[in-house]
Amino acid sequence: MITEGTERVEARIRARASALGFARVGVARVQDISEDFSRYQTFIADGMHGSMAYLAHNQESRRTLDTTAVLEGARSVIVCATDYRPAERSATDRAAVEAGAAGLRGGRIASYARGQDYHNFLRKRLRRLAEFVRSETGCEARPMVDTAPILERVWARLAGVGFVGKNGLIIAPGLGSFALLGEVVTTAELAPDSPLESRCGSCTLCLDACPTEAFPKPFVLDARRCVSFLTIEHEGPIPEELRAPMGDRFYGCDDCQDVCPFNKSPVPREVSPQFALGTRWSTRTVESILALDDAEFRRLTVGSPLGRPGRDGLVRNALIVLGNTGDARHIPALRATLARESNASLLALAQWAIARIEARSTEGQQRSPSAASDGVPSGAHER
Ligand code: SF4
Ligand code: SF4
Repeated sequence: MITEGTERVEARIRARASALGFARVGVARVQDISEDFSRYQTFIADGMHGSMAYLAHNQESRRTLDTTAVLEGARSVIVCATDYRPAERSATDRAAVEAGAAGLRGGRIASYARGQDYHNFLRKRLRRLAEFVRSETGCEARPMVDTAPILERVWARLAGVGFVGKNGLIIAPGLGSFALLGEVVTTAELAPDSPLESRCGSCTLCLDACPTEAFPKPFVLDARRCVSFLTIEHEGPIPEELRAPMGDRFYGCDDCQDVCPFNKSPVPREVSPQFALGTRWSTRTVESILALDDAEFRRLTVGSPLGRPGRDGLVRNALIVLGNTGDARHIPALRATLARESNASLLALAQWAIARIEARSTEGQQRSPSAASDGVPSGAHER
């Protein structure tokens, strides 16, 4: 039951969340989400989660938050969004990528991953918010940032934090989709906000922009084709037909966000410095990743999201970027990779990259005998 007292509590929780640095906060009642849950089950049954087996685990606990896997007796969830949109936006032109303005020199890194791993500081903020909720309500509260199997975007929509776009992401009006979500689940009965329904209208920009055609239909993402999934979560080789469209995307992909009209408005406030592009990346070339040993990899990726795919995963991504964008100058580093590596799939990938560069060089000479092999198109334009 909503009382005058609980309304004041919500206002205080909102103010506390804002003081902690969250750009949006909303409250949803813990409720039956069986419609969304059955969409999730279809996604899993169709195998669209690819090798992300963890998405198929604990299926039943994703139906509700009132469970031992989340919080028994949960009545409300406070959903918080932190924006990370870089002021300079994602550099999409090749010259900017070559200069290291969007990640490594020669390889793009998704905006969320260019600075520090967000889990550490979001967890701290959410812990503080959970403490506040406990002290204000006398009820139990559990902070979560990717720490329990829940359908996070469903709760964000129900809490009025944003609507689900056709690209499957939460879009907060006035903020956009470059936002990370975290939650505090509580046994307190809080007054809920109103859910937001989709505002995409007839727009299909994100669906059309995807370099690997990963959307079989609006609101449905086939993770097996998504560059973000392939370069970050997926272990092992990347299917050959998807390599060329990856272009210079070394880690993740922002394309279906970059084109979204809801991301075109000016950044409403200063974005947290934790998300700023680190010099450990901007001063380093894609080529240099090939020579990382395990110890250097660990040093380089400490506190960074880029540690997630492991050393072999980053080398794999670098080989694909070089295969798509490299030229004769990169051949010695690729040959050194052939001599150094023992991983069969990396060896095959190095050979693939060399063959791609040589084929482009031959094509360039046939077109213009005097031209050097310089006009390498990005993979996005090769489809
Ligand atoms: S992140 Fe990139 S590859 Fe994945 S769906 Fe969006 S545009 Fe496609
Ligand atoms: S690009 Fe268009 S269709 Fe896609 S999420 Fe944004 S508004 Fe919706």
